[in-house]
Amino acid sequence: MSDIRFDDKVVIVTGAGGGIGRAHALLFAKHGAKVIVNDLGGSATGEGANSEAALKVVEEIKAMGGTAVANPDSVVDGDKIVQCAMDNFGRIDVVVNNAGILRDKSFVKMTDADWDLVYKVHVEGAYKVTHAAWPHMKDNNFGRVIFTSSTSGIYGNFGQANYGMAKLGLYGLTRTLAIEGQKNNILVNAIAPTGGTRMTEGLFPAGAFDKLKPELVSPLVVYLCSEQCQETSSLFEVGGGWMGKVRWERSLGIGFNPDEGFSVEDVAANFEQLCSFEGAVHPKNNIEALKELMANIQKFA
Ligand code: NAD
Repeated sequence: MSDIRFDDKVVIVTGAGGGIGRAHALLFAKHGAKVIVNDLGGSATGEGANSEAALKVVEEIKAMGGTAVANPDSVVDGDKIVQCAMDNFGRIDVVVNNAGILRDKSFVKMTDADWDLVYKVHVEGAYKVTHAAWPHMKDNNFGRVIFTSSTSGIYGNFGQANYGMAKLGLYGLTRTLAIEGQKNNILVNAIAPTGGTRMTEGLFPAGAFDKLKPELVSPLVVYLCSEQCQETSSLFEVGGGWMGKVRWERSLGIGFNPDEGFSVEDVAANFEQLCSFEGAVHPKNNIEALKELMANIQKFA
């Protein structure tokens, strides 16, 4: 028997009808969780709907002796997904925001519809599900939330202005919800996965796609959502059997006398030092982030 168990826990996994979400749902069920398998069942670009995708994964879970319920709602109607969990199992412990679509286009060709739909599914959808689940987790004094970010948000990627915006936005949401959730034992983390799914077909060199099995992402997610794990506010890249943690780094910076001001030429003359990462710092919160700025004010007081 596994040490990390979810026997009395209810887990919502959005977009769990295929790809990485399916792998999460199966692994949570294997570890004893009751799983809401949510999936709208549309195309990779967000057209259409089909309840079969979620039902199939529920059948897989039941076949291995697990407990799961299918839910075909869009994440944009997050309250319905949460209601489904409450109606079936009476509680919610974990939300894994995984549902996603792509509308890749170079910025000049991007339409408002491409921008809006990607925002709606990734950001608004994750907000709606998490916002509806939050009071239940608060009442239980236990909660775990995962947001699914992307290296396209962290580092940028040609043709993914909409997607990159949404995916890094989810990390911003992670940071603030981690602060708000901590006193109620609601821990919030983000992952930037890489997996061989319909979303990434044709993107990786031959041979790599098969090695990027979606199920190689899920053990980290399940661990982050366990009672044993106290990690919060973090971002991890994960895929192909590898995983690593990401953090912000900032240069020590340059400081001028705030009473005297400084010129554009002063910025230019000191620009190399401004951009130097020698002695760089890694602020963990707003207070730490303001340390050098406040020290500069005091230096000239
Ligand atoms: P996928 O297309 O196989 O899975 C996404 C699932 O989300 C689909 O089953 C889809 O039906 C569902 N979905 C889409 N819109 C929905 C909505 N409105 N409501 C409910 N369900 C909806 O792709 P995947 O690769 O498994 O992607 C999973 C997540 O990982 C996504 O958020 C994606 O952006 C992210 N991601 C994937 C990769 C990768 O390498 N595969 C890289 C970075 C981020």
